[in-house]
Amino acid sequence: MSSTGEVLADADLARRDRLERVRGAMALAGVDVLVLSLGADLPWLSGYEAMPLERPTALVLPKDDEATLFVPELEAPRVRHDRGAYALRPWRESEDAVALIAAKVGAAAKIGISDRAWAGLLLGLQDALPDARFQRASAVTGAIRAVKDDAEIAALAAAGAAADRVAEALLAGEIALIGRREDEVSTEIGARLIAEGHSHVNFAIVGSGPNASSPHHEPGMRRIALGDAVVCDFGGTFSLDGDVGYCSDTTRTVVVGELPARFAEFYAVLKEAQRRAVEAVRPGVGAEEIDRVGRAVIADAGFGEAFIHRIGHGIGIEEHEDPYVVEGNSTLLVPGHAFSVEPGIYLAGETGARIEDIVVVTESGYLACNNSPHGLTVLDR
Ligand code: ZN
Ligand code: ZN
Ligand code: ZN
Repeated sequence: MSSTGEVLADADLARRDRLERVRGAMALAGVDVLVLSLGADLPWLSGYEAMPLERPTALVLPKDDEATLFVPELEAPRVRHDRGAYALRPWRESEDAVALIAAKVGAAAKIGISDRAWAGLLLGLQDALPDARFQRASAVTGAIRAVKDDAEIAALAAAGAAADRVAEALLAGEIALIGRREDEVSTEIGARLIAEGHSHVNFAIVGSGPNASSPHHEPGMRRIALGDAVVCDFGGTFSLDGDVGYCSDTTRTVVVGELPARFAEFYAVLKEAQRRAVEAVRPGVGAEEIDRVGRAVIADAGFGEAFIHRIGHGIGIEEHEDPYVVEGNSTLLVPGHAFSVEPGIYLAGETGARIEDIVVVTESGYLACNNSPHGLTVLDR
């Protein structure tokens, strides 16, 4: 029981703990108030996810005063309202929401605003508060949000297990490929993500033949043919107990019919790079070191120019968040950091492959959220 007499769920207690830690980080950073609108900071701290529409939603969180969630009146019924954590201020259609938010921000000199807030909200606040200085809220929240608590790790593991069941169906040949269009296969993968318990499909990349060399290929009309490698990279949002959802993200590459030229050679390199990078994950290692370990294996085999992206990204409520696993990010890994390890080798216009798993740093090493097989898989349907 809290002082106001309500019974708080574990998730609400976790969010109140996050609020306190964020306030501490605000004090250290000299930030007077956070304005949290679209993006993951708001659901992470409040349990409420704003609809990405034109009407402004914002949690105004002063460093040492009561927080207020401004929400369009018609969306107020959606708010899971933890009354001890923040006040709720529904605004009517005839009111000026930006003026209300600006009035609550008051004379604050330094404001952190959601990285993903609409520019319209920021520009309106800049007009209303000409003396204020704005910075990214992630400068305060990013490092805290990157370290997952036990409930968040459980949600990531459950999301990963659900995505694995789809990957295992793919690797077992249960998803027909030969002769089907990429977008049809993508739709089937998405439907399977939902059938395995995801609430939303975030993406289902299917890149076949030469399209396998485009890491973020948009699945299209191309029909999958014998001799194609097919990169399937998919993920969705998975919610445990109906609370805020966490993301899955995994990639497996299969071949149909016969192997493309050089494929067996570079797939073996890729698999070894991914394995070694994952095995390097433990507390005290710099994030960039994980990228270096995987990249070195690929470069030593002569494919360095073909690995054209960072090896990974943090994951949580957002598909991509801190910590980014890339050269230049020397952040030392600590237990609770969750991120992808996803090296790829792309031969432009020819073929490509990627292997991706989500891992969480533990006291002694890592927990793998994805455990479907990594071996070279050749399918005949
Ligand atoms: Zn990606
Ligand atoms: Zn992915
Ligand atoms: Zn990813």
